[in-house]
Amino acid sequence: MTEWVTGRVSAVRHWSDKLFSLRVEADLAPYQAGQFTRLGLMLPTAEGALERVAHAYSFVNPPQAGYHEFYIVLIPQGRLTPHLQQLQVGDTLWLARQASGFLTLDELPAGRDLWMLSTGTAIGPFLSLLAAGGIAERYSQLVLAHGVRWGSELSYRDEISQLQARWPGRVHYVPCVTREPWREGIAGRIPAAIAQGALEACVGLPFSADASRFVLCGNPQMVKETLQALQLRGFRKHLRREAGEICMENYW
Ligand code: NAP
Repeated sequence: MTEWVTGRVSAVRHWSDKLFSLRVEADLAPYQAGQFTRLGLMLPTAEGALERVAHAYSFVNPPQAGYHEFYIVLIPQGRLTPHLQQLQVGDTLWLARQASGFLTLDELPAGRDLWMLSTGTAIGPFLSLLAAGGIAERYSQLVLAHGVRWGSELSYRDEISQLQARWPGRVHYVPCVTREPWREGIAGRIPAAIAQGALEACVGLPFSADASRFVLCGNPQMVKETLQALQLRGFRKHLRREAGEICMENYW
């Protein structure tokens, strides 16, 4: 049974007409960077009763932050996100007290370089992992690729710059904008960039069996096709029973 606690919105950031972040104060059980919990609101059913409508969202913040932050995309036909988008500072919502998820530092395979490959709001758990800090003790080079349609969807740039300043020369940010020319990163989708060698070239860091480890999070089609592109390069899924190089989580 899920234990629900009340949270209070302490800050809201609207990045675009579809993308927003909610910062929430709530008394949650301890969690790890990269995990998710559920956010819920009581909404009316067709019969006029109230029911809790909830969905899983990853923490963007590191656990030590003192607040909980969630990066959310509006699903216009969805039941929950049009209401989440309307929340303002001081409003309340429900959170599952206990977080879950395996996109955590403990679950990642050891190596030299960690390639974090995301689309859309699924950059969130990687920002949490990076800001938590332990990842920089485990890996020498940290690559954060973010696939979005439009450059205006490249959120959290200030936070990414701060991470780059914290570990100079070790945090490589690769925006992958697919629907307009963009002045930096890669023009196109992540799996194609892997197949063409463009991702390695952009960072200046070749893949190698010894050094490279990958963690994928996002659009389920992107995760599937990125896995295939990496498998063609000789990398394997990382499983508890059999070590490999690739971890992954579908974001919806
Ligand atoms: P997204 O789908 O996570 O990411 C968009 C980016 O992924 C675009 O650059 C797109 O490229 C690229 N992409 C799409 N298919 C790909 C593939 N097979 N391989 C590699 N890259 C691929 O974007 P979003 O705007 O955050 O989310 C869009 C929709 O996803 C939402 O409206 C919602 O329906 C759904 N969603 C649901 C949830 C949920 O929790 N239920 C969460 C997040 C998103 P192209 O421009 O070339 O297509």
